[in-house]
Amino acid sequence: MQSEWLVKLPLLQSVIKKKEVLWCNPLVEPVAAGLSKTHLSKDDITDASDRLERFAPYLAKVFPDTDKGIIESPLTPIPMMKRELETTYAVNIPGRLLLKQDNALPISGSIKARGGIYEVLKHAETLAINSQLLDNAKDYSQFDTPAFRELFAMHKIAVGSTGNLGLSIGIMSAKLGFDVTVHMSADAKQWKKDLLRSKGVHVVEYMDDYSKAVEEGRRQAEADPSCHFVDDENSTDLFMGYAVAGERLASQLKEQNITVDEEHPLFVYLPCGVGGGPGGVAFGLKLAFGDHVHCLFAEPTHSPCMMIGMMTGLHDQVSVASFGLDNKTAADGLAVGTASAFVGKTMEPFLTGCYTVEDQTLFMLLKKLADSEGIWLEPSALAGMMGPVQVTKSKLPLADSKYATHLVWGTGGNMVPEDEMKDYYNHTRK
Ligand SMILES: *Cc1c(COP(=O)(O)O)cnc(C)c1O
Repeated sequence: MQSEWLVKLPLLQSVIKKKEVLWCNPLVEPVAAGLSKTHLSKDDITDASDRLERFAPYLAKVFPDTDKGIIESPLTPIPMMKRELETTYAVNIPGRLLLKQDNALPISGSIKARGGIYEVLKHAETLAINSQLLDNAKDYSQFDTPAFRELFAMHKIAVGSTGNLGLSIGIMSAKLGFDVTVHMSADAKQWKKDLLRSKGVHVVEYMDDYSKAVEEGRRQAEADPSCHFVDDENSTDLFMGYAVAGERLASQLKEQNITVDEEHPLFVYLPCGVGGGPGGVAFGLKLAFGDHVHCLFAEPTHSPCMMIGMMTGLHDQVSVASFGLDNKTAADGLAVGTASAFVGKTMEPFLTGCYTVEDQTLFMLLKKLADSEGIWLEPSALAGMMGPVQVTKSKLPLADSKYATHLVWGTGGNMVPEDEMKDYYNHTRK
């Protein structure tokens, strides 16, 4: 299979050599055309957004570090980092550079606090309605009462994760009172397992990679009707929880008087693992900004599962191992060998492209961001930072626009213990 593809798609020759590459998606279309190819719509996002509003009084009560129960992150200009990128790569990045700081999201400190928490809340709401504990009009702060916790204690939630999704699902489920199990891959960090166990979450460890942890988790959950499995590869609930970010970002840009239109394009760079997080956010962005937003996914050179899946059109029928890649990366949130077919197919008309980043580059950027802006991200989250360099060097339409806004999605970091972060900074830990 490999050699045929290498002839058909010559860019793959660089991919298998683990070079940093940019792939521009030939199937990208206007948003209206793309929307006709999916059953997902703006109504699904509105439904998710309304649900998060309903839960705000509850979240405000149990997680006071949220903004009145809304889980949202700052949007921060990073002009010093822009200068760093320009000098390091000898490029001029026209326009402005912003960082969407999902590293600072309340509750679980990563992008997973969007989709993961949303899915758990939605499941809790459904159970509460089915048990006649709640109707839509009621005050959701009741979720923090013994009657609700007793109900949830009779129900299980399970998830397979490289770490951050486990944190988000585990923390939220345990807070509501669920019996929750996180199946963790070998890349998952010890501190994440410890933290979850300290909150009463069951952690099952695997010596294998992410796909194995998910498969095992799914198998065990299927055998138990009282168990809800959070399916990172196929869940539309997760996807919609992420997609709410689109309208939220639109309000933040408006507040900062930043225009997005035909002359003012918005480029957004999203680190990608299995695809749900960046896919959901990108979908939300496309609905919020239409054809004026251009989304790119960023992956490690050792784990470009979405790039390979979308390039070949084989999606989950191909893995990075099919092209001799080992899926070993310090970007633990992105250490995924096979992308979600649901996300890959949904994104086909919407995604501008994918690019890859070496681990060395991630560490270099981590240090530069900390030094120049005082912002600390985890390695996975730095993958987005190469986007403005890749796009500026490319021939993509509007790549040279001096009115462009380049937005890097900083997907995680605040939960990382200080000593681990220091090791990342000094690049003494892989
Ligand atoms: C999970 C994660 C991603 C990617 O999200 P996927 O849904 O797996 O594609 C990116 N960055 C961080 C820090 C993550 O934890």
